[in-house]
Amino acid sequence: NFDPPYVFVVFGASGDLAKKKIYPTLWWLFRDNLLPNNVAFVGYARSDLTVDKLRSGFEKNCKVRDNEKDAFEDFIKKCSYIQGKYDDDEGFKKLKAFIDEYQATSNNQPVNRLYYLALPPNVFENVTTELRNNCMDNGDSWTRVIIEKPFGHDLKSSDHLSKHLSKLFKEDQMYRIDHYLGKEMVQNLMVLRFGNRIMAPSWNRDHIASVMISFKEDFGTGGRAGYFDTAGIIRDVMQNHLMQILTLVAMEKPASLDTENIRDEKVKVLKAIKPVELKDVVVGQYIANPDFNHPEAKHGYKDDEDVPKDSVTPTYALAVFHVHNERWEGVPFFMRCGKGLNEKKAEVRIQFKEVSGDIYPAGELKRTELVMRVNPDEAVYMKLMTKKPGMGFGVEETELDLTYNSRYKGTRLPDAYERLILEVFMGSQINFVRTDELEHAWRILTPVLDELEQKKIKPIEYKFGSRGPAEADELMKKHGFVFTGTYKWVAPENK
Ligand code: NAP
Ligand code: NAP
Repeated sequence: NFDPPYVFVVFGASGDLAKKKIYPTLWWLFRDNLLPNNVAFVGYARSDLTVDKLRSGFEKNCKVRDNEKDAFEDFIKKCSYIQGKYDDDEGFKKLKAFIDEYQATSNNQPVNRLYYLALPPNVFENVTTELRNNCMDNGDSWTRVIIEKPFGHDLKSSDHLSKHLSKLFKEDQMYRIDHYLGKEMVQNLMVLRFGNRIMAPSWNRDHIASVMISFKEDFGTGGRAGYFDTAGIIRDVMQNHLMQILTLVAMEKPASLDTENIRDEKVKVLKAIKPVELKDVVVGQYIANPDFNHPEAKHGYKDDEDVPKDSVTPTYALAVFHVHNERWEGVPFFMRCGKGLNEKKAEVRIQFKEVSGDIYPAGELKRTELVMRVNPDEAVYMKLMTKKPGMGFGVEETELDLTYNSRYKGTRLPDAYERLILEVFMGSQINFVRTDELEHAWRILTPVLDELEQKKIKPIEYKFGSRGPAEADELMKKHGFVFTGTYKWVAPENK
């Protein structure tokens, strides 16, 4: 084979993430001809498996259509499985032998290596050490290591892991996945901000009253309460996904689209944020709401048998951040995230200040809001005032609405993992978290996490299916967020 060879190795191939996400994603990329021709997919784990057994685990998640069955068989032919441990040489030597053999059958061209660590964090260090000792390229091809969250539990453990990794790999070999960075609307943030002349002059403390970044889930911990209780919503969502979105909203325009220029700007934002204090945080925990129509609503968080009865782990959090720089001084950035809420959505909401020199009857004008909905049903909408249509002179709230489902009907938006895995093949690190970004995200949140845990601060109870604790709305109000409750949305199909 004369095409340059690539191996994509999934460590922890027997696991949940591999079955649910990684193999299906590889299949979709393969099916759409987005991967190199000469690629081998290697599963690696301790379990006694074969490719057939692996396949039976992930095939149902691949959504293979009738006319794709042959292509799926071709995909499977490219898969192999190596059984091996994570902490001794033997399995890694087998992997090296596989790669050497692959090189031999590829006209002796050096093999590019992608290693995906779909493993619990307690084996990260062993696996990466073994990889370094046994399975690296010789300098005439490349090696890229994809790492999944959690990237540590706090600043100390994260720094420990980062130091370990930086002894083994160069920064340009490390791809820390935060799948939110692969979402369409998150990738669109820079284009909206830097591709439209009207945005730049208003994107600052002179015009913006507050920024709200929300991540709401309408389900509870599902079967993962045991894991969740060791982390909590701040570590699970805020420290990574929401913090990443914040940097993209707040950063200065980078000198170019080069990876390091962008990541430098993101880090500059984080450097301008002081650690969050307890007074800037509201934490909540959901309780049962048997009247609510959801299978999980019958039980509160602490009713789960995997959760200690005295758990103070937050399932909801609001935190207020301030970016101390010339653009943002005084503008609150709210991050809200929670489980067991009234709806599922992730969005960025920019609330603008009132117009100056208002000439309309007092209270009629409402603040303009720009909302970028990341999930579900991507949309960008601007809530603004218009003349009430028809006779008369009154004003009313309405919206400029870019709903992707109607404007881009039929366009398939790839899953975040598809985009990100492809970016690893292409060597683009724009949407991956650099070591110093991670360090700062932990620096900002670790003190308050420690305080919450050491003082055993009791989260405020909120009912499953509600909007979360009312105290969160109050804190936002105190920081200047205005909710009037007057905006009425009429979906286009009902107009
Ligand atoms: P998992 O199913 O618990 O573990 C993956 C594989 O690792 C298992 O099949 C098992 O394979 C091996 N393993 C499990 N526990 C081990 C232990 N204590 N010591 C050594 N090996 C062990 O994990 P996952 O859900 O796939 O997640 C993998 C990584 O992705 C984790 O870091 C997780 O936090 C992260 N992640 C997962 C999801 C998700 O949806 N699942 C989402 C985001 C991030 P063998 O026994 O066959 O070796
Ligand atoms: P909204 O209902 O006026 O809510 C504005 C913000 O105020 C939200 O962040 C909301 O929080 C918060 N809020 C709600 N009740 C509150 C309270 N009692 N105290 C303090 N804050 C409160 O406006 P909207 O969310 O922008 O739009 C309303 C609906 O229209 C949404 O369902 C939206 O999806 C829909 N819409 C859809 C499109 C589209 O599909 N293209 C366009 C425009 C509007 P929560 O986030 O917790 O609710």
